[in-house]
This record gives sequence, C-alpha cells and structure tokens, in this order.
Amino acid sequence: MHNTLNDHVALVTGASSGIGRAIALALSRAGAKVVVGARRAERLDALVAEAPGEMLAVTLDVTDPDSATAAVAAAVERFGRLDSLVNNAGLMLAGPVVGADITEWVRMIETNLLGSMYAAHAALPHLIESRGAIVQVSSTSGRIASAGNAAYAASKFGINAFSEALRQEVTARGVRVTVIEPGFVATELTSHITDPVMREMAAGIQQSMRTLTADDIANVVVFALGQPDHVAVNQILVRPADQV
Ligand code: NDP
Repeated sequence: MHNTLNDHVALVTGASSGIGRAIALALSRAGAKVVVGARRAERLDALVAEAPGEMLAVTLDVTDPDSATAAVAAAVERFGRLDSLVNNAGLMLAGPVVGADITEWVRMIETNLLGSMYAAHAALPHLIESRGAIVQVSSTSGRIASAGNAAYAASKFGINAFSEALRQEVTARGVRVTVIEPGFVATELTSHITDPVMREMAAGIQQSMRTLTADDIANVVVFALGQPDHVAVNQILVRPADQV
C-alpha cells in the first residue's frame, strides 16, 4: 500500500527495533512523515537514514512522562501537527508469579501500560485538533492470559481496558482508537527474558511455527490508519496461522 498517508504525521514509540521499526518504515513508504522514538538513539539514526520519506528521531523513554511530552512537542514543532500516535514500546519479561523478581513487573507495567498512557495523554490535545488516531500495540496476551505470563498479560489487559474507555471518550471528537493484538512475532522481544525456562520455551515456540514478521503487523497498522475518517478499525487480532 503506497502513498495512502500523504501529509499524515505519525509518532511511533519503540521504533528502534522489531515491530515499531517496521511500522515506521511502512508508514514512511505510505507517504507519512514519521517521528520515531526509543532509548537507543544510534538505532534511530540508522532508521532515519534508511527511511524513504521525512523522518525525525527523538530519544524517548516512555516511562518518563516528561520524555513523552517532549517527543510529542518535537513532532509538532518539526511537522506542525500530529495525526497519529502508535504506542508500540514494550517489553515482555515472562516468568511464573511464584518467586518472581517484582522489579520486572514494575518495568513491564511502567513501560507497556503507564508508558502508553503517558504518550496518549501528551498526544491527545494534538490528535483532537487533527481528528487523528491512536494505535495501541497490545497482544494476544491482552485477550487471553496464560501461565508464565501473568504480569505481561496484566499490562496488556490494562492497555485494552484503557483503550476502550478512551475510545468512548474521544470517538465523537473524531479521534479513532485501534488496538492491535499480535500473536508470536519474530523480534528481539524474547531475548530480554531473564527466566531461563521461559526463554527456552519462547525459543521453542519460535522454531515450531512460521511466526509473524514485524512487517505483517506494520501492514495491519497502515491498513487501520489508511481508512477514511468515518471508519474506525477498533481491534485487530493477528496470529500466525500455525499458532493455536
Ligand atoms: P522489540 O524488543 O524488538 O522492540 C521493543 C521496542 O520497545 C524497542 O524499540 C525498544 O527500544 C522499545 N522500548 C522498550 N522500553 C522502552 C522505553 N522505556 N522507552 C521507549 N522505548 C522503549 O520487541 P517487539 O517489536 O516484538 O515489541 C513491540 C511491541 O509489540 C511490544 O509492545 C510488545 O509487547 C508487542 N508485541 C510483540 C509480540 C511479539 O511476539 N514479538 C506479540 C504481541 C505484542 P529501546 O530499547 O531502544 O528503548
């Protein structure tokens, strides 16, 4: 899908790798001006160099509300408006509840849930002005919780709950809210798991099926954002065909 988003300005969080990086490139190919945020600035610089269209890198830590506000301000300062926020930054530190390192729970809630809420809060005044959109990268774990992933699922269920309430608040003001729920996507996500059993399990899942690619999810985001103003794509669940 090419050039369906001309004049569109998007901010993508967690764009330094995986799904966020693919979304940023797909939006750029579709004609959007894209602001890319994450903590690893050198990766963002490499992404900007690769982008087919105008792209701005901002160092962003979504766990810091001031950082989220600054990223939104940088987008508006550079491009004059903001049409979409893609809340993608996240991490999955899988492990059982019993004996868990609770600092990992805090990191997941602060990044996945609160981080996306801070970014939404900062972006909404501009999105109301532009009658724009928020895309929330949730997960199948935002619909179905499973053993070994309680805290991650809690963060993603939280995203879904926040998104539905937000949708009801802002849809009549022209802001569309889309929740994307990917199944297993081959990215760096599982490399951060500290529990050796869970890490091995994730590697086994990856080898056992044709996983989704980050581009598969990027295509879905471009589809949702490319709809005419009167169409709100509220929720998309995308699993690998091999994932039960
Ligand atoms: P990656 O680990 O490849 O990407 C995660 C991104 O989040 C990185 O760009 C990272 O950038 C960024 N990030 C992490 N913490 C912060 C922070 N505090 N501030 C800003 N950015 C941050 O994983 P994925 O691409 O797979 O994950 C992207 C999203 O997709 C996540 O929300 C994940 O939960 C979700 N998802 C992934 C699935 C999968 O199977 N891979 C399935 C379902 C959902 P940096 O470290 O540079 O800050």
